[in-house]
Amino acid sequence: MDVKISTLLNATQRWEGFVYEHTRLVRASGGLRIEVDVRAHKQRAAKCSQCQGVAPGYDHLGQREWMGIPMWGIDVLLRYAPRRVTCPTHGVIVEHLPWNEGKHPMTVPMMVFLAQWARRLSIKEVGEVFRVGWQRVFQAVNWVVRWGLEHRTLSGLVGLGIDELHWGKGQRNKMYVTLIYQVDQCQRRLLGIVRGHAQKDLRRGLRRLGTEALASVRYVCSDMWKAYLKVIPQFFPGAVHMIDRFHVTQLLNQAVDKVRRLDMATMKGRPQAKRIKGLRWTILRRFSRVRGRARQALTRMMSARLATGRAWQLKEAFLHFWSYRSTRCAREFLRAWVSRAKRSRIRPMRKFAETLQRHERILLNWIQARDEIMTGAVEGLNNKCRVVTRRAYGYRSFSVLEVMLYHTLGKLPIPEFAHRF
Ligand SMILES: [Zn+2]
Repeated sequence: MDVKISTLLNATQRWEGFVYEHTRLVRASGGLRIEVDVRAHKQRAAKCSQCQGVAPGYDHLGQREWMGIPMWGIDVLLRYAPRRVTCPTHGVIVEHLPWNEGKHPMTVPMMVFLAQWARRLSIKEVGEVFRVGWQRVFQAVNWVVRWGLEHRTLSGLVGLGIDELHWGKGQRNKMYVTLIYQVDQCQRRLLGIVRGHAQKDLRRGLRRLGTEALASVRYVCSDMWKAYLKVIPQFFPGAVHMIDRFHVTQLLNQAVDKVRRLDMATMKGRPQAKRIKGLRWTILRRFSRVRGRARQALTRMMSARLATGRAWQLKEAFLHFWSYRSTRCAREFLRAWVSRAKRSRIRPMRKFAETLQRHERILLNWIQARDEIMTGAVEGLNNKCRVVTRRAYGYRSFSVLEVMLYHTLGKLPIPEFAHRF
């Protein structure tokens, strides 16, 4: 049996109340194109696009066209002249078209199709592969994300992670984004994105999730950014607030790196300078993971009696903190480490130690509550966000970044169809 295009369309996308009438293969300027004429089923009444209630016909509008999912790389164009109906509630109004969404020039399955590809490729690449341009792909993703945000469920949130990302140039507030994640045992996903990392920005982001969704939160994980430290206890008075391990490690590494750079500057021209040269990443890595030549270089650096060596020792010693199960023991260790770092007379390390001292309680909360949250989740999501940010960076607009982050990390539901493309 020969397979007609209408047979394929009926097998993959059947719209209740409508039939595929004629299909044509047209040779257009841009190559081949399949044109599909759709008509209303004669025995079915039209429905109101607002309430989807059956309503008597009023008149016909002009023909509209929608881009459908391409077949064999050939563009598919759906054509239909929508009717207007007289709805008892909504008056004269355009009829409900199951494949249509507002003024979008693409069918709903086409938007979902493009959006699914945009999870694997950049929107620019998807635009190129399907010859629709990145703007169309972005429109599609944007619609799918809005749909997903409307249909997602936010109940049962237990652990939240609050993180920031620098995405533009410069240090102005709007060059940061605040990210809110769910990081408990049930789910790890991105829940919210707001521009800026000031107190008002985090408040806005949390409010958007709704007080009802936040009521079940028992653990909140964040970095040591002042604005967050202030807002979190206000929003979650009964929750355990803890500092994420990933952020502490990041801060410690920054301190060690600063010591190395200071050493480089003061030792310039002296033989010791050679000992630290090119060791930036080796120094930051855990010693147990440093092998071979890098390990030898590290040992040579240690014998050069530099501040970098002492900072490195402090960094390695601090690792032990994370292995504690008892808060009491962890506190003892922390206090001993802090006083050792303060005695070291290395400024960046002393500053770091003071920061830890100031946040002792929330740091120890991590030891106490770490089993309740997914401890590596914030770091994992942060890394993925960076990848998406880099990909979306070319578009330089916050709305593109926002949509792409939700799309790739929000685990949002998408409209389901019987056929998977
Ligand atoms: Zn209606």
